[in-house]
Amino acid sequence: MNSPQDQQILTGLTRSELEQFAASLGEPAYRGRQLYRWIYARRARDFAEMTDLPALLRERLAVSAEVGALNVARESLPGRDRSQKFLFELRDGLRVETVYLPDSPGETVCISSQVGCALGCQFCATGKMGFFRNLTAGEIVQQVIECERRVNTRLTNVVFMGMGEPFHNYDNVVKAVRLLADPEGIGIAPSRITVSTVGIVPSLERWITDDPPAKLAISLHATTDERRNQIMPVNKAYSLETLMKSVRRWAHVTRHPVTFEYIMIADLNDRREDAANLKHLLRNVPAKVNLIRLHPTGSGLPPSSDAAIDRFMGWLVEEGINCTLRESRGVEEKAACGMLYTQEPFKPTKARAWEHTDRS
Ligand code: SAH
Ligand code: SF4
Repeated sequence: MNSPQDQQILTGLTRSELEQFAASLGEPAYRGRQLYRWIYARRARDFAEMTDLPALLRERLAVSAEVGALNVARESLPGRDRSQKFLFELRDGLRVETVYLPDSPGETVCISSQVGCALGCQFCATGKMGFFRNLTAGEIVQQVIECERRVNTRLTNVVFMGMGEPFHNYDNVVKAVRLLADPEGIGIAPSRITVSTVGIVPSLERWITDDPPAKLAISLHATTDERRNQIMPVNKAYSLETLMKSVRRWAHVTRHPVTFEYIMIADLNDRREDAANLKHLLRNVPAKVNLIRLHPTGSGLPPSSDAAIDRFMGWLVEEGINCTLRESRGVEEKAACGMLYTQEPFKPTKARAWEHTDRS
């Protein structure tokens, strides 16, 4: 019998990859398509469930392959609003977090694209972990399927707003988005899949060409290069104008509206002039600004007060900018935006990072 390491994990494979896999077992291509339906549309986790496959094939599959499941290392109790955070353990022992957010709107899951993140935004707990590795497309998709199973609900919305920068794991994220959106597979509506990115410009350019079935949200958080550099080191590589040039092209080519995420930080980005700067930056883009309260992560940055947020929203309205304030959920459970943290920072000279206990 093969050891688990030798077994091919099938979740994450496309329809044609599953056809090839079937061929590698000497089976006709349609067996691959049957596997596709069982794994994604019917969410089967075991070959034994796949009753239209011959018993002998099911036995062979059980030896050489695995549907693929994530182990839950810990799950929080459902919050007052039924939201829940899952800590998933990957095969190499690394961990990622996934958050279930019912009614926000629809049945939403917030998923991770990387273990950690290399971008080190000052306000973000994930950034403090440093970067461990990219998730595979299978690991990304499995978070959705496993969350559904745990909360016993069909999910309707997926947001890539968990750990990691999706555009630093471009190929796997696009592959996962396509698997999630396939109406004959997992079947999440493209208008209900959102990828959030700080805007790595070369990846954004690829995204414009590929036009994957998902919406995009850009984490802006400041209106001048000087201030964005201060809190988001990535801005030193791609200035606001470079980023916005690409965003404008994307909006023009795809005709999709763009959401901008904007964390409210006292005196840094909540001034009158920031509202005017935003108007200038967002010119010619069908935009919505989603204001977010700064969640506590020990960053030392001061959150804008409720009064300052109200005032800023008023200025945005004056500037003709469409804006909303995102509800902050899961702050107590450290499940809110920017609060996901699963490993001690990676220090190559010490023991492997995943041997530390997590503090999430
Ligand atoms: N790397 C991507 C996606 C993950 S972060 C990105 O940055 O867009 C998802 C969202 O959480 C982003 O908008 C991010 O800016 C926000 N976020 C990070 N830290 C936060 C904090 N302390 N308080 C509120 N939102 C935060
Ligand atoms: Fe990475 Fe996003 Fe956190 Fe910045 S906010 S460190 S890009 S996960």
